[in-house]
Amino acid sequence: MMRVYFWGTRGSLPASITAGAVEEKIVKAIRASRTHSLETDEAIEAFVHNELPFPVRASYGGNTACVELCGAEEYVLCDAGTGLRDFGGAYMKAKAAGQPGLPNVFHLLMSHPHWDHLQGFPFFTPAYLPGHRIHIYGGHADLERIFIRQQSEPCFPVGFHAMKADIRFHTLEPESEYDIAGMKVACIRQNHPGDSYGYRFEKDGRTVVYSTDSEHKDGGREEYERFLSFFSNADLLIFDAQYRFLDAVDTKENWGHSSNLLGVEMAAAAGVRRLCLFHNEHTFDDDALDRFLEDTRAYLKILDGSSSLKIDLAYDGLDIEL
Ligand SMILES: [Zn+2]
Ligand SMILES: [Zn+2]
Repeated sequence: MMRVYFWGTRGSLPASITAGAVEEKIVKAIRASRTHSLETDEAIEAFVHNELPFPVRASYGGNTACVELCGAEEYVLCDAGTGLRDFGGAYMKAKAAGQPGLPNVFHLLMSHPHWDHLQGFPFFTPAYLPGHRIHIYGGHADLERIFIRQQSEPCFPVGFHAMKADIRFHTLEPESEYDIAGMKVACIRQNHPGDSYGYRFEKDGRTVVYSTDSEHKDGGREEYERFLSFFSNADLLIFDAQYRFLDAVDTKENWGHSSNLLGVEMAAAAGVRRLCLFHNEHTFDDDALDRFLEDTRAYLKILDGSSSLKIDLAYDGLDIEL
């Protein structure tokens, strides 16, 4: 079994929810409750969970990229966006509660060092504590220098070398295969300003592909096939779908991201079972993100009405069991 937990899902920069937006959700929820008899706590909980649409009862969240692949011998995470701070917080809480059998080794695979994928690391508490080991992997050969620079004056008060964990860097080669914490991991170079890397994880007959910050331009049939084979038959494809189709081909071409519609087409062509749209547009509120998901699902119906592809839009706290 494999589980994927999303600690951070926003693209480009964190996006917090406002007080006004929370109040609006409460008003909508109370309005919707008028026709229900909510006498007990159980009835209230069932109403909230089953009757209220996701953007009313919850939020897609505002942390930047950090995804955990659970089920390995040690912790395996993709990217160190602000979601990494929450992962570290949950780990520290479990440790303080004396939870037995907690690993103290973390494997962190970096897609690339843009800020939204890096900025959570200075707030990752286990990195400051001796007795922890952190392996940082990526296709960029100069990751160590970049991590050190992020915590240098004048941008950050605590230097990288103040971190007391044993931190080691590893450069991965695209088109090669690795064993990381008992998972089979492959790496692919993606089209993005400064390059980015996608990862394919296989364990116990389950496959998860993490492919964010990747612009699929018209690079010809060979380039398209290269990605289809990397995505092929994945149980879960986490796909950079920051843009609506028109944005991707018009104003935001060459900004390094892809669209929801391309995600659907590629997932369907590669025989993927579940597609998770990721790197959510930071200017979209919960209603806009929800419409974006509905539009994407509608597009799949047009493309192939009998397709069994399941489509989700990632949110902070999404927990997918495969
Ligand atoms: Zn990004
Ligand atoms: Zn980027």
